[in-house]
Amino acid sequence: MRTLGVNSRLKPFGATIFAEMTALAVKHGAVNLGQGAPDFDGPDFVKEAAIKAIRDGRGQYARMTGLPELTAAIAARFEKTSGLSYEAERDVVVTCGATEAILDCMLALLEPGDEVILFEPFYDSYTASVAMAGGVAKVVTLEAPEFRIDEHALRAAITPKTRVMLVNSPHNPSGQILNDAERAAIVRIATEFDLILISDEVYEELWYETKHRTLATEPGMRERTIVLGSLGKGFSFTGWKVGWAIAPAPLAAAVRSAHQFASFCAPTPLQAAAATALAAPDSYFEGFRAEYRGRRDRMVQGLRGCGFDCELPAGSYFALANHASFGFADDFAFCRHLVEHGGVAAIPPGAFYRDKSKAKSLVRFAFCKRDSTIDAALERLLKYRARFMSGEFSGGLAHAASL
Ligand code: PMP
Ligand code: GLN
Repeated sequence: MRTLGVNSRLKPFGATIFAEMTALAVKHGAVNLGQGAPDFDGPDFVKEAAIKAIRDGRGQYARMTGLPELTAAIAARFEKTSGLSYEAERDVVVTCGATEAILDCMLALLEPGDEVILFEPFYDSYTASVAMAGGVAKVVTLEAPEFRIDEHALRAAITPKTRVMLVNSPHNPSGQILNDAERAAIVRIATEFDLILISDEVYEELWYETKHRTLATEPGMRERTIVLGSLGKGFSFTGWKVGWAIAPAPLAAAVRSAHQFASFCAPTPLQAAAATALAAPDSYFEGFRAEYRGRRDRMVQGLRGCGFDCELPAGSYFALANHASFGFADDFAFCRHLVEHGGVAAIPPGAFYRDKSKAKSLVRFAFCKRDSTIDAALERLLKYRARFMSGEFSGGLAHAASL
């Protein structure tokens, strides 16, 4: 009988860490700061728009490329934040979350064996998407604790087969935002080697002191860049899975060729509501950012008080902390012990590296949570720290390390 199960392209990826940690959080009744999903609802005016769209009978497939009012709203919002104007009908594709857009890009752009530059740590769907499309990931490491692009390392990864470079800023999981030197290096490399740039900007609304700027505004980049966005992040509706790609006509057409067979369209009423969301006044986005700045400061200050080293992230809703003072062998051991004995779920950032042992002393906490959730997690972390300091876990550490 034929072997049943997953093929060789997907086999190496196993189960995504987000499903695994969420299941452990449920099992142990933990406060969940793992998966980047808000524990509060998105704004009422957006929910009302979705309800209205359902009541109005908008229950059939949307236009394949995206509901006309949504593609227009995406182009209008992007023009407002970037100054770049795109033709909504031609240059925007609405997808089932940015996750589908990433896969569509790879399926549409890569010939078998084509190489894609990825920077690790990365959102775990990147490598899987490249593999599903028959491409080859060439991974450049952003070295901790700065997580900045090293142009020499980047150059060394380029070969005649390199076709695409995928960049993410604001960055998951480090919270870093590209600086001018990195932006200039990206422009130099993309131009010199004639690469297509995929710029994953799903956290575009989540910046704090340094304003996010799309890479498409850099000289010569617009013509070769696909910008990815998601309603999930800026409007706290991760479960709606409404995402998009914005690109010059030939690239948008390519993404569309994969999208039409991958999902055909994202859910119609949610697309209608997304159009309402993106037309929100500036005050919505300012309030959103101010609330997140408060959550970030609360989380980071609290973590520091519990024995973690932690920088303030420049963007995103993740705090990447150092747990070295707890004495665990690695991030997976720490996260498994913490969820079971401390009642807090976090993500081991090794899951964002090709070599999973590269983030041994790091742990990622998501702070897209109510203040009361952050406080409850911090209270548990403080108790966990106290039990650790009293030596209670010393026998358990060796065991946890071998799990
Ligand atoms: N890119 C990055 C960097 C992410 O963290 C995520 C997270 N969820 C996505 C893309 C996917 O977004 P979506 O939920 O819209 O599929
Ligand atoms: N990107 C989200 C995170 O990093 C999770 C997305 C998912 O669960 N696939 O937490």
